[in-house]
Amino acid sequence: MDNTANDFIRNATLALQDTRLQTAIRSGTRREVNGRIAAMAETTDANALRQQGRAGKLRALHSLPDVLELLERNLTAHGARVLWAADGEECNRLVLDIARQHAVRRVIKGKSMVTEETALNAALERAGLEVLETDLGEFILQLAHDRPSHIVAPTVHVTRQQVRDLFAERLGMEPSDDPSALTHAARLFLRQRFLEADMGITGANFAIAETGTLAIITNEGNGRMCSSLPRVHVVVVGIEKVVETVEDFGTLVQMLTRATAGQKLSSYVHLMSGPARPGDPDGPDAFYVILLDNGRSTIHAGEYAESLACIRCGACLNNCPVYQRAGGHAYGWVYSGPIGSIITPLMQGIRNAAPLPNASSLCGACQEACPVGIHIPDMLLRLRRDLVREGDSDPALAAGIKGWSAAMQSPLLYELSGKAARLATQIAAGEADTVQHLPGPLGSWTRNRDFPRFAAKSFHQLWRERKRG
Ligand code: SF4
Repeated sequence: MDNTANDFIRNATLALQDTRLQTAIRSGTRREVNGRIAAMAETTDANALRQQGRAGKLRALHSLPDVLELLERNLTAHGARVLWAADGEECNRLVLDIARQHAVRRVIKGKSMVTEETALNAALERAGLEVLETDLGEFILQLAHDRPSHIVAPTVHVTRQQVRDLFAERLGMEPSDDPSALTHAARLFLRQRFLEADMGITGANFAIAETGTLAIITNEGNGRMCSSLPRVHVVVVGIEKVVETVEDFGTLVQMLTRATAGQKLSSYVHLMSGPARPGDPDGPDAFYVILLDNGRSTIHAGEYAESLACIRCGACLNNCPVYQRAGGHAYGWVYSGPIGSIITPLMQGIRNAAPLPNASSLCGACQEACPVGIHIPDMLLRLRRDLVREGDSDPALAAGIKGWSAAMQSPLLYELSGKAARLATQIAAGEADTVQHLPGPLGSWTRNRDFPRFAAKSFHQLWRERKRG
């Protein structure tokens, strides 16, 4: 599939025909959805916790420049070197400069969507560095020359059988479907590389300003290995990841792990502030933090600033009926699902991601699942408005909506159009309950689903009959 968001419809159509992909995504997302629902049901005052987490994120965004400066001051006081990157290119250049300065040859990486955004791996490899992903999912994708399709579960589109074949081919292991055997093979391969690496690169889930602390939340512990074993550690973090206080972090981490995988807390919550101090048993000699903007300041200054409150839990993807069928690759860039349909047009330009704001039924499942209550459907609607303002509107759709709007405002037109639609669907459906092929441009509706025939009598008719009776 092409890596462009404008190919969404074509990519989604192909994905719908891919039964293996459909099975993989359905089982992966269903597991996470059920886990989240159970974890939230078990949580006392889950809604209060959600409101508290949301308030913490919005407060940090409200005074973002001040909170970022506080973070920088406190990190610097711990001995970290804080650098600012305006865009992905500058970020990659800074990482390369650090690598050259410290004579780095081997790099290990923890899972980081922000470095997917800057295409860091390709930049490092072009410069002759050896780069190894250490998150199990990312490691599988690197071996398969594939890319993540989910912000938390990067291999949700991959089946266990595919991993079996991949590991047999690339790691030389005896073919096995057993998850423990597969994990063991990956661990054996990675263990020595952890010890040999010169530089570790990770993202951070949260940056706590009041203490100058960065937090990595994982279930594998690879983030801790990447940040404590190599002599140089670089953390690349988007500026929206900052929170003001440890208390805010405490609330948000609980929401993140519940929303992501239904866990009260993940296996590893790793906190770091700077290089190893004298007497520390481990930790890097040099510790760098790159605060990446890459379009975030522009978003922050506009009407979509709330989208920066996203804590990248993936719950909106798991709950979205469009994501569940189209899969993440169809969205054409790093971020997929409902939040990707907002972030991608904002970061890549709305004309470069025109189908995405429309890739939603606006059912609201995303907002209901979001642990920080981001108004996703509302933002998608506003992006659709922006598209129309940019001249991107379908004349047939616009005429249809105008006609519908006129019918809704006139009782006579409403009744007449209802009668016409009832008659038309009854003729088209014949004996069946649904219409399988609508004519003309309406046919795209029935390409992948049926259209229910209208009821024989309208509500108004039934009401009148009831009153007469
Ligand atoms: S928008 Fe909400 S649900 Fe979606 S990834 Fe972000 S925090 Fe999670």
